[in-house]
Amino acid sequence: MPELPEAETLARQLQNLIAGRSLRQITVLSQRVTRDPLAQVRQQRVDRVQRYGKWVLLQVDVGWLVIRLGMTGTLRWCAPQGPYTRAILHFEHGWLCFNDIRQFGSITLRPQLPNELGPDPLEMDHRDWCSMLRSNRALKPALLDQRKLRGLGNIYTDEILFAAGLHPLVEATRLGEPQIERLERCTVEILERAIELGGSSISDFVDVYGRPGRYQFEHRIFRRAGEPCSRCGERIQRIVVAQRGTYYCPACQRL
Ligand SMILES: [Zn+2]
Repeated sequence: MPELPEAETLARQLQNLIAGRSLRQITVLSQRVTRDPLAQVRQQRVDRVQRYGKWVLLQVDVGWLVIRLGMTGTLRWCAPQGPYTRAILHFEHGWLCFNDIRQFGSITLRPQLPNELGPDPLEMDHRDWCSMLRSNRALKPALLDQRKLRGLGNIYTDEILFAAGLHPLVEATRLGEPQIERLERCTVEILERAIELGGSSISDFVDVYGRPGRYQFEHRIFRRAGEPCSRCGERIQRIVVAQRGTYYCPACQRL
């Protein structure tokens, strides 16, 4: 499922491809994509493309097109229409296919910039982190709660917690200053590195040109149950946290 680095990869590519260009019309091929009358969006100038959490936003004359990639959504520039193409955005100089096998993604139109999610981990300062962690919940579910922190999903949360040496089930309020600082630093380092490598391609993710990301080759913990920890040699374990398969090293990440 695309998370912050994958959405950022798409948003940066689309900013270069379509900002300042005219969106002629949108063809909706599956009713599950939207309830909004997107066919009425015609001859709109795309002012800019940006990421919001895991979403890709296109600013047009009448508001914001909010593209949620869901589990399997991809955005492909000038790709041929396929069996999983759910919508096509036609531009003056090409087209963008919204493909989505499992159909948890959507495209909606909003008059305003969305603002219902928590802060962005790449923009937060130390005080933001402290207030975000003022929660009695276990750390991993707290990091996954998009209303408190936007953009992290299952893959990056596990990689960040491993890098920071924090157990996924530790209570968020029990973190001390040095641990919070480590969490902040590891989050930024991992997300920036993943963006640099075009995100992670575990199953479906590809960029607008159909190229997979490369950060999966640097995953140290995600889906490595039974393998030795790269730091200490202990076997990596899998547990279920908040209904998600969660990977951690019992020696490096003690409760
Ligand atoms: Zn270890």
